[in-house]
Amino acid sequence: MSRISVVRDRGRDARLPGPQARLLKQINQGFTDAWWAHYHKLVEKRQDCLLSAPEHRELIRLTDQLEKREVKRLQALLKLAKLRKQSLTQLMKALRLTGLSGGTVEGGWADDLKPDDDINTIVEVITDEGLIGVGSAMTSKALVAAAVRLLRPLLIGERADEPMRVTEKLRQSTFWQGRGGAVEHAISGIDIALWDLFGKITNQPVARLLGGYYRDKIKPYGSMLFAEPESLREKLLQALARGFKAIKLGWRPFGRRDSKTDELLVRTARDTVGPDVELMVDAGGSEQFWPHGYKWALRTAKMLADYDVVWFEEALPPDDLEGFIELRRHAPVPIATGEVLTRRQSFRPFIERHAVDIIQPDCTKCGGLTESWRIGWLAYEHNIMLVPHGWNTAIGLAADLHLTAALPIARNVEFLTPSPYLDELVTEPFKPDAEGFLHTPTKPGLGIELNREALKKYGI
Ligand SMILES: [Mg+2]
Repeated sequence: MSRISVVRDRGRDARLPGPQARLLKQINQGFTDAWWAHYHKLVEKRQDCLLSAPEHRELIRLTDQLEKREVKRLQALLKLAKLRKQSLTQLMKALRLTGLSGGTVEGGWADDLKPDDDINTIVEVITDEGLIGVGSAMTSKALVAAAVRLLRPLLIGERADEPMRVTEKLRQSTFWQGRGGAVEHAISGIDIALWDLFGKITNQPVARLLGGYYRDKIKPYGSMLFAEPESLREKLLQALARGFKAIKLGWRPFGRRDSKTDELLVRTARDTVGPDVELMVDAGGSEQFWPHGYKWALRTAKMLADYDVVWFEEALPPDDLEGFIELRRHAPVPIATGEVLTRRQSFRPFIERHAVDIIQPDCTKCGGLTESWRIGWLAYEHNIMLVPHGWNTAIGLAADLHLTAALPIARNVEFLTPSPYLDELVTEPFKPDAEGFLHTPTKPGLGIELNREALKKYGI
């Protein structure tokens, strides 16, 4: 029997799960050099017909030992191969949903949103080997749970490492019941969790799996709601103290009272942050019964240009495609929209007809990282900038960091501040560096770890 070469796989030993490590130890377990010397001496003597009767018995005993050991080694090798094959084809076994409550920014989308309302749901996808992928959907738990009832039969038993194919299957299979809306929001959370799993299974960060790094850091903008001038000043100073070099202000009372108030708010903001901090303004035109049209938007855009505002967001209702085309043509500041659109097909006319300068898909709503990435490349082909929207959790922000790292065009990521869902939900919270940049996590998957205590505190 020839000696089977020793399997060397030391580079992987440290991160092997217990059963694999034990098998590898069995495979590498060998006889001592003295044992082999003794064995070969007897084999040579046999070849020269010099074996005595006791030596012959001894050689039979050693051969028996060797055969038994090789059988064991082969069995261990087969088991290890089987285990490793399984670890590369992990299957989805269960989903866990946690709605977030108690930390919603006061005011939120609309007047009637309370801090206790849940508008974000954490989605965890668990594989048959116990690996967990984490995603985030910007929709209440009740809606995600209802969607998951529809999606679960399509998910359980599916591969956990093919996010693009699997989430397109979910989308196509729920076309009649779930086209866009809450079902797409739920698919978004699942898609992000599947990208996290894909990365963990292949031991690569999501940005690399999305095609590779165009950048490894990006400037976040502190995102907050407008307020009356005095408290607005205070909020801005706090955001600067947290290290933000770009800030977006949005919604009430801007656009809801009169143009004098609008200009006072923007002037207050510019005076407070100084000339070197980037300022963006979000009218919040996706609020119900938005009263303004093209002329208000154009007039306001001209005022914003006087204060060096970087972009004007949702100046019109989200479906006013023709209005956006006109506004983009004539406004002196870049025009942005896209946060409420779902599925890549909804973005297509805004991009192909150059209705915006900046497109803003929200990966926790529009269809996950998969759809955002497709939208990002379509935007790039049309010379349109991408800035992801995120009224977000730290999980959604991590996804945005990987997305923007893997696209040739991306300007910023949105960073809701202050927000416990950003600051507490992961064990290593994101913070701007001294230059005001966030770095894309480098660990496998999204590169984050859930803080289970915080999840318990805010979870419903
Ligand atoms: Mg917005």
